[in-house]
Amino acid sequence: MSRILVTGAAGFLGSFLCDRLLSDGYEVIGMDNRVSGQIKNLDDAFYQDQFSFYDHDVTEFIHVAGELDAVLHLASLASPVFYRDHPIKTLKVGALGTHKTLGLAKEKDATYLFTSTSEVYGDPEVNPQPESYRGNVDPYGPRSCYDESKRYGESLVRAYRDKHDLDVRVARIFNTYGPRMRLDDGRVIPNFMKQALTGRDLTVYGDGEQTRSFCYVEDMIDGLVALLESSVQDPVNIGNPDERTINELADFILDVTESDSGITHEELPPQDPQVRRPDISKARSELNWTPEVTLREGLEMSIEYFVQQI
Ligand code: UDP
Repeated sequence: MSRILVTGAAGFLGSFLCDRLLSDGYEVIGMDNRVSGQIKNLDDAFYQDQFSFYDHDVTEFIHVAGELDAVLHLASLASPVFYRDHPIKTLKVGALGTHKTLGLAKEKDATYLFTSTSEVYGDPEVNPQPESYRGNVDPYGPRSCYDESKRYGESLVRAYRDKHDLDVRVARIFNTYGPRMRLDDGRVIPNFMKQALTGRDLTVYGDGEQTRSFCYVEDMIDGLVALLESSVQDPVNIGNPDERTINELADFILDVTESDSGITHEELPPQDPQVRRPDISKARSELNWTPEVTLREGLEMSIEYFVQQI
C-alpha cells in the first residue's frame, strides 16, 4: 500500500492520521472542505513532499488522478454541538460522502476504511458494547442525524463489500481526545479544559453520573492503522475501555490543571447516552491492539495545547 486518500484531513483525527501515514512512508492526499476541520492542523503535513491537499466537499463527485491504494473516510461532524447546528450536512457527509468515497475506492480498486462510531449503539442497554450489539437508536431523535448517517454508512460499506467485493474496514470509534480538538468543539474534554484553565465553573450536564470511556488520540491512531493494515472486514470497536463518570472526569481535570474552579450542573441534553464503554476483545485478538495511555497521562499531555488555545 503506498498512496492513500484521507477525507476529513484537516480535522482532529484526520490530521493526526495524515501525519502518522506520512511518517510511515505513505504518500497522502488530504481532502477537507473545512466545515469543522482547521487547516492549521496540517501545518506539519504541508512540510512533507509526499503530502498534497484538495479543498473539496466529499458529498460532491470526487476526482483523483492516478492510483489509490486506500481511501480512508474520516470526514464527519462528530461533535454533538456541530451536528446539532448542521444536521443536514451531517447526514450528507455520512450518506452521500460515504457513497462518493466508496465509488472512488471501487474505481481505484482501493481498500476502504470507514470511520463509524459508538453512536451506532445509541443509548445502549448493554454495557460494555460488543460489536454484535445492535444498538438502541431513536431514528427521529435529536442525535439521529449523526447516528443514522453512520448506521447508513456502515450499511453502504457492507453493500459495496457484498456487491463489488470491495476490501473494506469499519472502525467504530469511541470518545477520543487530545491536542488539536477545537476549543469551541463543545465536547466534554475541551469544555472542561477551557473552563478549568480560565477559572470558570465546569459545566457538568445532568447529575454527572453518566459514563464515557476516553481514548487518547495516539492510541486511536495506532488502532486505526492496525485495522487498515489487517484484513478484518467486519466492524471493530476502537476505544479505551476505562469507563468513567463525567463527575470523575471533572475531578481529574481539576486535578491535572491544578484549578480552583467549581462545578455547576446544567440540563442534560435530550437522549444523552447514560453509559458508553467499548468491548475491545476483538481489537485485542484480531489487531493485537490495546490502548496504552491512561486518562491522567493523556490529559497531562493535552494541557499544553489547550493552554496555547486560550
Ligand atoms: N458534558 C458535560 N459538560 C459539558 C459537555 C459535555 O457534562 O460541558 C457531558 C455530556 O452530556 C455527555 C458527556 O459529557 O454526557 C460526553 O459528551 P460529549 O459532548 O463529549 O460527547 P458524547 O459522548 O455525548 O458524544
